[in-house]
Amino acid sequence: MNFLRSNHTNIMRTKLLPVIFCLSTFIFAQKAERHIYFGDIHNHCNLTYGHGDMRDAFEAAKQQLDFLSLTPHAMWPGMPGKDDPRLAWVIDYHSQAFARLRNDGWPKYVAMTKEYNQEGKFVTFIGFEIHSMVYGDHVALNYSLEAPLVEASSVPDLIDKLKNTKAFVTPHHMGYLEGYRGYKWRSFNSSMTPFVEIYSRHGLAEDDLSDFPNLHNMGPRNYEGTMVSGLNKGYKFGVMGSTDQHAGYPGSYGDGLMAVIAEENTRDALWNAIAKRHVYCVTGDKIKLDFCINDAIMGDEISGQKRNIALKVEGQNFIDYVDIIKNGKQYTRINTPTINAENIGDSVHAKVKIEFGWGKEEAYIHWQGNLKLSEGRIISITPCFRGAAYTSPQKSQIGTIDLFKTHVNRVLSCTSKQTELDIYTTTNPNTVTSATQAVILEVKMPRKAKLIASFNGKTFEHNMQELLDGTYSHFMIGWLSEAIQFHRAATESVYKIDYKTTDDKPEKTTDYYYIRVRQRDGNWAFSSPIWVNNK
Ligand SMILES: [Zn+2]
Repeated sequence: MNFLRSNHTNIMRTKLLPVIFCLSTFIFAQKAERHIYFGDIHNHCNLTYGHGDMRDAFEAAKQQLDFLSLTPHAMWPGMPGKDDPRLAWVIDYHSQAFARLRNDGWPKYVAMTKEYNQEGKFVTFIGFEIHSMVYGDHVALNYSLEAPLVEASSVPDLIDKLKNTKAFVTPHHMGYLEGYRGYKWRSFNSSMTPFVEIYSRHGLAEDDLSDFPNLHNMGPRNYEGTMVSGLNKGYKFGVMGSTDQHAGYPGSYGDGLMAVIAEENTRDALWNAIAKRHVYCVTGDKIKLDFCINDAIMGDEISGQKRNIALKVEGQNFIDYVDIIKNGKQYTRINTPTINAENIGDSVHAKVKIEFGWGKEEAYIHWQGNLKLSEGRIISITPCFRGAAYTSPQKSQIGTIDLFKTHVNRVLSCTSKQTELDIYTTTNPNTVTSATQAVILEVKMPRKAKLIASFNGKTFEHNMQELLDGTYSHFMIGWLSEAIQFHRAATESVYKIDYKTTDDKPEKTTDYYYIRVRQRDGNWAFSSPIWVNNK
C-alpha cells in the first residue's frame, strides 16, 4: 500500500510517516484545526455530451482530488437556434444528451456517485448543470446523495425550487457576454450562491485584464460578469475554480480546482465550509493560501478600522508575486527572490517537478517506471495529471457510441525512497496547449544525492545541486521523440511567503480585500475576499 497520500494536498496525514508540514499549525493559529482540500465540482463525461466513460472519470479523479461532483448537462430552458441552421448540430447534441440523462442516465449517475463516496477520503456530491442565455450557465450542487434531478424553466425557477433543500446554485464562465451565457450580477442570490466559478477551461473571470482570456467559440471575455465587477457592485461571494472538462477527466491539471478550508474531509465539514465561503480558486497547482484579517479568514465579514492583514502562501514552484487587492486596486505587491538561496546547508528541502510528454506522435505513449532517490527521502508527491483537451464535444469522436477512451494516470506506489508511476501522454496538440503529465516531489536530500528516473527501459539522473541550478530534459529515443523534463528544484525560500501588514485607512462603508498569487510557471491562486465594515 502507499504510505504517502498521492491524492489531494501534498500534506500527509498518515501515521506511517511523521507529518513534516501540517497546515493546521501553519494556518489559522487562533482557529480550530483546518485543512485545505482540493476538488472539482463542474466537469463532464459521456454520461451527457462530454467524452470518456463515467467510471474512468471517477477513477481519474480519485488519483488527485479530495472531493468531486461529476456534473451531467441537464437542461437548457429557452435553448436558442431552432431556426438557425448554423446551430443545428449544437442543438442536436444538447437535446440528445438531455434525453439520455432522463432515460437511464440519472439513476446510473446517482448510483456511481454513491458507490465512490468515501467519507474522510474522497467525498462525492450530486450535481447537474443548467444552461441559460439570459442568466448564464449554472451548476446545482446538492448535499444529499439521493438528490433528484429538478426540472426548471429558468435559473431563478431552479433557485426557487431548491431554496428549501441543502443545495447551492452557482454560475460559471462568467466573463461571456450577458445574454449569451455570460453572468448577470443583477440576478445574484446570496443565500443560494455562496461562491462563483471564476476559472475553468473557458478562461479566467477575475476581471477583464487577467491572464487566460476566453478562447472557446462561445466568444470573448467582458468585464461585466467578472468577479471584480460583482465585488465593486457590492455583492458578497466566495470564488473557486473547476475544470469544466469535457473528456471525462475531473481535476485535469491546469483547468481549475476548488479549494475548501475545512476541519476534515467529510460531507458535513465541506458543506459547512462552502456555505461560509471558506473556498478559493487555483488554476492548476495546489497552491496553499492562508489569508486572515484580524480574526477573519477568507470569505468572512468583520468590522473594524484597524485591519491586521496576515498571509502565508505555499506554492508548488517558484512564486513570482502575491498581490493584496483592496476594493479592486492593488494595495501591496509582495515579490519573492528569483533564484534559490545559497546558504541552505547540505540537506536540501525542495520541490521538484518531473514532467513527461512532448514528441510528435498522436498515439498515446505509455510511461511505466519509477522515480527514485539515491539518498534522502520523499516527503510528499503531488500528481499533475490531465485529460484530453476538450471543452466541447468533438464531432469526429461521436458516432452512435463515444469513440474516445480515457487513459487514467496513476501513482501506483510511493515510499520515502521511490514512487512508481503509470501515465500516458500524447504530442502537445499545438504549441500553447500542453498534453504533458507530471508529478511534484517534495524531497529532503543531500546536494550530491541523485534523483533517478527509470522509464520504458531508459534511466536519467541529476543530483540535487544540478537541480538547484537549472532544468534538464532528455529525449527517450532521439529528436522529436517523447521527452522527460527535470524542472529546477524550488526551495522553501522561493515557494513560501509569510507576510504581515496593517491597514488603518478605511475607504468605504465596507472594504473588500483578496489576494492573488502568481507562480513564475503561470499558475495562479485567488482567495475569496474578506469584507471589513468601517465601524
Ligand atoms: Zn459545464
